[in-house]
Amino acid sequence: MLLDCGEGAQMRLIEAGIDLSKIAYIVITHLHGDHFYGVYPLIDSYIMRVRSQKLKNKKLVIYAPTGFCKGFDNNFNDLITCVEVSKNTMANNGFVQMGDFKVRWLPMDHGDVEAFGIFIAIKHREKELGIFYSGDGICRDKCLEFLKNVRPCIIIHEASFLDYRDDAKKARERYHATVADAANLARESQAKMLILMHISSRYRSGEINDFISRAKRLFEGDIYIASDLSQVQLDRVTC
Ligand SMILES: [Zn+2]
Repeated sequence: MLLDCGEGAQMRLIEAGIDLSKIAYIVITHLHGDHFYGVYPLIDSYIMRVRSQKLKNKKLVIYAPTGFCKGFDNNFNDLITCVEVSKNTMANNGFVQMGDFKVRWLPMDHGDVEAFGIFIAIKHREKELGIFYSGDGICRDKCLEFLKNVRPCIIIHEASFLDYRDDAKKARERYHATVADAANLARESQAKMLILMHISSRYRSGEINDFISRAKRLFEGDIYIASDLSQVQLDRVTC
């Protein structure tokens, strides 16, 4: 399962040694370019790989917000299914079973755009391990209530901005999260691990450590900053 697919995602997948034909699901959280422009080239490569190798029983399902599937090429219907999700459908549906994963869409506050956070329950050593991926924006109300209840083990959250100086104000104006929003959510939902991502390119490498130290003031668990190709071994996470 691939959560969001920005430009260059395909290159990273190849670098990580992942066979593109093994991707069964792509979930797009919202229709901002940095979260979905990589889908089209990835699909091209997926189809080429499946057709040229004559691979059997392959199917790729893409879930994306309203409006995404319209521009989709129907010629690939036998291989690819595009499913649109909206706040209304998802609020009523509860969990969707996707292979070994149970997935739940949660509404995020990201300004005018319809945006979702994704909660995934994974069977791991006879237990269920929960992961929440924020996409962009802030988890409030329904989203927060749900996460407090399920207590995800791992939270992968955008932290576009630091939470001091003008930065917090900028975050609010752009409907993005600060590191404090991410850390507060991790604490309130009793997560064990917080992985910060989507840090604005305005920050120089020296400031990146500030993200960790600011998050530490609010959240006691393990804190990491995601970078290209970084991995988490679920076996090493105690939940
Ligand atoms: Zn966005």
